[in-house]
Amino acid sequence: MQTLFPKRKKNLTKTNAVCLLLQPAIYLTSDPRAFKLKSCHFAKFKFEVLKVRKLFSLILLAATFAVSVIAVPAQSAKVTAIKAGRLIDTEKGVVLENQIILVENNIIKAVGANVAIPAGATVIDLSKATVMPGFIDTHVHQTGQTEGNYYDTLFRESFVDVAVTAHIYAKRTLEAGFTTVRDVGSEGFVALALKNAINAGKIPGPRMQVANYYIGSTGSHGDIVGFSPWLSSRMPEEMSGVADGVDGVRKKVRYMIKFGADVIKFGASAGVLTEEASVGAPQFTQEEMNAIVDEARMHGIKACAHSHGTEAIKMAIRAGVASVEHGSFIDDEGIRMMKERGTFLSADIYNDDYIMSEFARLGFPQKILDKEKLVGRTQRENFKKCVLSGVKIAYGTDAGVYPHGWNGKQFAKQVEWGQTPMQAIQSATIVSADLLGWKDQIGSIAVGKFADIVAVEGDPLKRISILENVQFVMKDGAVVKKTL
Ligand SMILES: [Zn+2]
Repeated sequence: MQTLFPKRKKNLTKTNAVCLLLQPAIYLTSDPRAFKLKSCHFAKFKFEVLKVRKLFSLILLAATFAVSVIAVPAQSAKVTAIKAGRLIDTEKGVVLENQIILVENNIIKAVGANVAIPAGATVIDLSKATVMPGFIDTHVHQTGQTEGNYYDTLFRESFVDVAVTAHIYAKRTLEAGFTTVRDVGSEGFVALALKNAINAGKIPGPRMQVANYYIGSTGSHGDIVGFSPWLSSRMPEEMSGVADGVDGVRKKVRYMIKFGADVIKFGASAGVLTEEASVGAPQFTQEEMNAIVDEARMHGIKACAHSHGTEAIKMAIRAGVASVEHGSFIDDEGIRMMKERGTFLSADIYNDDYIMSEFARLGFPQKILDKEKLVGRTQRENFKKCVLSGVKIAYGTDAGVYPHGWNGKQFAKQVEWGQTPMQAIQSATIVSADLLGWKDQIGSIAVGKFADIVAVEGDPLKRISILENVQFVMKDGAVVKKTL
């Protein structure tokens, strides 16, 4: 997982440069034969001359390199000191006052009340703000969002349409304070391309884990259904997440991983926003789910399952998923199983509001709206049960169903449905970092972690909704947004 991050920046100091230079030179000059032309045999002489020429060329090259490196002033580390009026320690769940965060390049080097600010450091004054680690959304579809007519989107958009606009949504997400996301399903390998462009520094966006295609069975939520059989939307196997049978799903998992999947996402149950009759029916057998999770595990990769239905949730937990997505109709037994096995819940409890207010206008069929009515409130009630039972709650919003950049709207919902404001913030930071397997890199403001830092004016522990408008965002040590 570590390799997903851009490499930590290293300083090329004068000493490093000289060592680099000397290594080949030392090697060459340590070979005494290089300077001797002792043979009178012509061929040998020619050989030695060539060797000497080669040696001189190398020395010349090394010398040129040395001059060019040493002539450039050595870059010293970029040091930034952030004065945090209030800092939320997400690991301990406490608020610390008047802290200094010292950032060297992209890494947090020191945090504390008595940290000395080095001369020459850039100082960012957030002494009137509440400072937190960058937020993490573990359930997004980063490449597109529901905004056009339902049928136009389905039948007239191609991967190319999606690809040319995806960067807009990535930027909005980052500016909303979400410095890391897990993309749990996108088509055409667009999310992978987006992640690569972000990591290469070509476009702004959050750190990403990507699943590539959502893996679903024939006729499932991951396969387009509900239209005339004459309207085939079936893509070539290489551009599809549809797979059946133990061998079929193993092959599909291998294929997704071959092309860069950081996480495997599959559909354990039916869904809401497609035209299946059911919301909750299992859509893979237990054996298929076991095979998906096992195959991913062989590659050191976690799996997560879209699952609304009571039985499908339990099948996915038994298979060993890292997280249950949605979890709408979970029962007491399912909750107990999640607690026992440490399975995370990633439940999109904000977007019901958006779907109910906007989706009729966007031309979604009535049967989809009826399914949402069936799920919305129950999902929230069951979310509360999970919170009160001590299930690990990751922050996952299904952004893309509603506009990217609104990811923060779920904080208030998580508080309305059972969490304290501190728990909601921990959910979107350290708990989600744990689900992603990146707890040692992100999720708290701690020494050695990436400098992903956000801030707001005021106190989110008193009024959680202020997190919908984050005013300061730093990702990887670089300021992305500052309006306070
Ligand atoms: Zn989703």
